[in-house]
Amino acid sequence: MTKGILYTVSAPSGAGKTSLVHALVESNPEVCVSVSHTTRAKRPGEVDGLNYHFTSHEQFESMLEQGAFLEHARVFGNLYGTSQQWVEQTLNSGIDVILEIDWQGAEQVRRLMPDTVSLFILPPSLPCLRQRLTGRGQDDPEVIAARMEEAMNEISHYVEADYLIINDDFTIALAQFQALITSQHLRQQFQAQRHRELLSALLAK
Ligand code: 5GP
Repeated sequence: MTKGILYTVSAPSGAGKTSLVHALVESNPEVCVSVSHTTRAKRPGEVDGLNYHFTSHEQFESMLEQGAFLEHARVFGNLYGTSQQWVEQTLNSGIDVILEIDWQGAEQVRRLMPDTVSLFILPPSLPCLRQRLTGRGQDDPEVIAARMEEAMNEISHYVEADYLIINDDFTIALAQFQALITSQHLRQQFQAQRHRELLSALLAK
């Protein structure tokens, strides 16, 4: 069984990362997205176990002590973490895993698993980012202002990623994301593992 490929996808809040990831996963049965644990309060419309595993501070700290997280970080004052066990099991079953995480988490994952492919998604402009954050209608103005400030910080970390996509036109950005996934599967090491029998047959005397 060929192991799945691990991707991290980071972006400033409002860059359209979640919509892109979901559209990609919908059309690729062999790619799935990890559901993080968070201490953040549920937003309207969010479902526990689907958008996040919403956990208490105590629960999160206890999981942290048990080494349950592959990575974790504090973002906007809330704790977020990725289940180590779920990621490992999913990759081992040959499914690709996308981690939608911030730059701090992406850095930790890259250190632990150097084969990880990291992608950064950027908005086409700051006014567009502000408009997207306001248009979502889920957060208070103070929260939006804080997120705009935080966005500038997150954006500065684009240099750490392997790939960069500008999400101006959603259809184009999705096609670029799809191309990235396809290209990773065409890497020689990956193909050689997947087509071991074919290669032996082709090289047989
Ligand atoms: P939101 O609360 O808006 O869904 O996410 C806030 C930020 O936390 C986003 O940048 C998101 O990518 C990041 N985030 C979500 N889950 C995780 C996680 O498991 N680990 C880390 N490091 N960041 C996460």
